[in-house]
Amino acid sequence: MTDDHRTFGPMTKAIHSGEEPDATTGASAPALHLSSTFVSDSVEGFSAHNITEDTPYVYGRWGNPTVTMLENKLAALQGAEACLCTASGMAAASSMFLTLLGQGDHAIVSDVCYAGVAELAHDTLPRMGIEVSFVDMSQSSNVVAALKSNTRLIHSESPANPIGRLSDLRAISEIARGAHALHSTDSTFASPLGQDSIALGVDLIMHSATKYIGGHGDALGGAIIGSSDLIQTLRFEAGIHHGGILSPFNAWLISRGAATLPLRLERHQSSALTIAQWLESQSSVTKVIYPGLPSHPQYKLAQSQMTNTSGMIAFQVGDLAKGQSIANAMIEKLAIIHYAVSLGHHRSLIYWMETEELMKTSFRLTKDQAKSYREFTGDGIFRLSVGLEDTDDLIADLAQVL
Ligand SMILES: *Cc1c(COP(=O)(O)O)cnc(C)c1O
Repeated sequence: MTDDHRTFGPMTKAIHSGEEPDATTGASAPALHLSSTFVSDSVEGFSAHNITEDTPYVYGRWGNPTVTMLENKLAALQGAEACLCTASGMAAASSMFLTLLGQGDHAIVSDVCYAGVAELAHDTLPRMGIEVSFVDMSQSSNVVAALKSNTRLIHSESPANPIGRLSDLRAISEIARGAHALHSTDSTFASPLGQDSIALGVDLIMHSATKYIGGHGDALGGAIIGSSDLIQTLRFEAGIHHGGILSPFNAWLISRGAATLPLRLERHQSSALTIAQWLESQSSVTKVIYPGLPSHPQYKLAQSQMTNTSGMIAFQVGDLAKGQSIANAMIEKLAIIHYAVSLGHHRSLIYWMETEELMKTSFRLTKDQAKSYREFTGDGIFRLSVGLEDTDDLIADLAQVL
């Protein structure tokens, strides 16, 4: 990223950062470089430790021009120094955990976070000799209470998938700094534009680029964004040695998607707000959780920390049986909205998530934590990712099943 890109607005950055017309052909659109190796014009060493920021491209796992283009675009959009792209959002999470933590270290992880991340932290990290405390981060004091002398990493997720609960990112960053630990946060629900996590003091921001950043449901990818030093450390170990790097083709697709992220996110937000308000007015809907609604239990925090509340809504329809029967009706009758997992795409997606099932598989919560969770979910929620279709059409589609 050239320095003057830092002063551009988000739409200009989304389109131009990381890209420039091709020096030899003048092509205006970015090239897709699939080459796995690069011809050297000098004698280079053969270890990750020889790489610096100006080392030319050597081998695709160390760096690739198309992947670099996306990394620079995402760093610019997030307002950070650097970015490492990974094969998926999960590869971003495992890259952070397995690079920054080792035997004898302690990590504090949000008790509710992406199911795969929760399971990784519950099952894999302890096997590596890493101790993990799971805390409800909607109360920052719980994070303070969980600190130990060997706490190295605090991992939050806000808004948390799937329940839309928030964590105070500024407060948790301060707690981490005071404890000489790093604060990483999963910003997938917010995208790089939904909250300025760098200004809030977060050290590392991870995204599933499969979601809002790519935005079209056709490429898996992940990103970790932060200071040049931290990203360089992650690139050496997680990128080059663990090897979960992003393919150039996916980087090219995701970069094309990212170019319209600011425009899409505005629309996701405005349409989601309209739909959330409509849901609140339906007698069959018992609770709606959307950070842009004044009824969200943390609306004030959402207002102070989020710059865009994006398009993720959770809603309840009563007891378990009611939820299951409406889920079945959705599978049969929805004409536009796809009944499918994932989120952040131009197509709207909806999925039924049962509280008891998630408790057993992913979230193994204590009694108090389960109580806080249930305040958001009851027996279960529909997770709705509001896409870019006409809002009236989406409401009509929902109206026939609710
Ligand atoms: C989807 C998701 C992930 C995992 O990303 P993949 O690209 O599917 O590996 C991580 N965190 C959150 C919040 C997600 O929604």
